[in-house]
Amino acid sequence: MNLHEYQSKEILAKYGVAIQRGFVADTVEQAQDAANKLKEMNGNEGWVVKAQVHAGGRGKGGGVKFSPTLEKLKENAQNILGMQLVTPQTSAEGKLVNSVLVAEDVYYPGETETKEFYVSILLDRAQGTNTVVYSTEGGMDIEQVAEETPHLIHKELIDPALGLQGFQARKIAFNLGLEGNAFKEFVKFISSLYNAYVGIDASLFEINPVLKTSDNKIIAVDAKVTLDDNALYRHKDLAELRDKREEDPMDVEAGEAGLNFVKLDGDVACMVNGAGLAMATMDIIKLSGGSPANFLDVGGTADAARVKIAFDIILKDPNVKAILINIFGGIVRCDRVAQGVVDAYKEIGEFPVPLIVRLQGTNATEAKALIDQAGLPIHSAITLEEAANKVKEVLAN
Ligand code: GDP
Ligand code: MN
Repeated sequence: MNLHEYQSKEILAKYGVAIQRGFVADTVEQAQDAANKLKEMNGNEGWVVKAQVHAGGRGKGGGVKFSPTLEKLKENAQNILGMQLVTPQTSAEGKLVNSVLVAEDVYYPGETETKEFYVSILLDRAQGTNTVVYSTEGGMDIEQVAEETPHLIHKELIDPALGLQGFQARKIAFNLGLEGNAFKEFVKFISSLYNAYVGIDASLFEINPVLKTSDNKIIAVDAKVTLDDNALYRHKDLAELRDKREEDPMDVEAGEAGLNFVKLDGDVACMVNGAGLAMATMDIIKLSGGSPANFLDVGGTADAARVKIAFDIILKDPNVKAILINIFGGIVRCDRVAQGVVDAYKEIGEFPVPLIVRLQGTNATEAKALIDQAGLPIHSAITLEEAANKVKEVLAN
């Protein structure tokens, strides 16, 4: 689960990480109030208006605007709120901006001594460690830095049992070329950041840029946090931060129904029980000349209610030309699943695309008979080869 920048920064602040302060606003009036509040706090005019969407590269797309006066701030908030923001990380149609973060200007006027760094913390599954990735080349596209000047990106592996140790924090600060007070501030910064990462069970922190001000403060100017979904059960407060408007509506619906669904861009939809079988089924679809429209694991209980929801989700995709159901009845009985498919089919009524059902395992023969006798235009199969051939036939017509 991804968080917005403003949510991420609130969490970081709780862990003692220095952040660029700001307030979230859904309207132009709220944006103006936020600016006034910030002015009371730091005595300065000058703010940034930042679009809150789950995508990076907002600055490039016009979603981050410096506003030196209140008039400019109002104008920028007006323009950004409600815009379709297109960035290198969004689709061509972009993302609707529902809210903005009005943040204090931390790049003081006439500033020459500021530096922007890149810092991220993530789980390195291959190494079995958390890893701090950092670079002096902050503020810009880290992918580009990785491509053109990979030697400027450093990694520090953190043993999860020991946590980030003092010498590691100092090594990172040193490699970033910091000294004196900035060095000390950075050590504090990275240590609190690591504590936050572990404390909220995150799987990714990306702070780009981390800013060193001319008076040697170290501040998170941007913050991207991804939480580990599998740990959300122990962070009820964080689970509530989920913004469903930012997610694919199909993914949201599937998640609520407890279905493991990933939308893909092919033409043959599939519905399978078990992740391994789902992947094998996607291969079979490829081999029959199609391309999978999704990954869908319906889990152990493929009853009518679940199958119906799965159909609803799959049929929303206009690219789908055929649906292949591939269920292995080990614990779940195939005839039960077959009944579920028939019931769901009847409930939906007219099916716009051909449906191929392959049931194997306990009571597979009964299941096939049940489908064949239902009088519905469903193609039934017992072997996977049969099912694959039916997919091929259907795509050829
Ligand atoms: P991103 O483009 O989505 O990564 O958004 P960022 O939060 O990283 O902001 C983009 C850029 O806006 C930063 O790299 C900064 O150069 C600039 N920026 C952010 N905050 C301020 C600020 O307080 N003052 C000024 N002048 N520029 C800022
Ligand atoms: Mn950024």
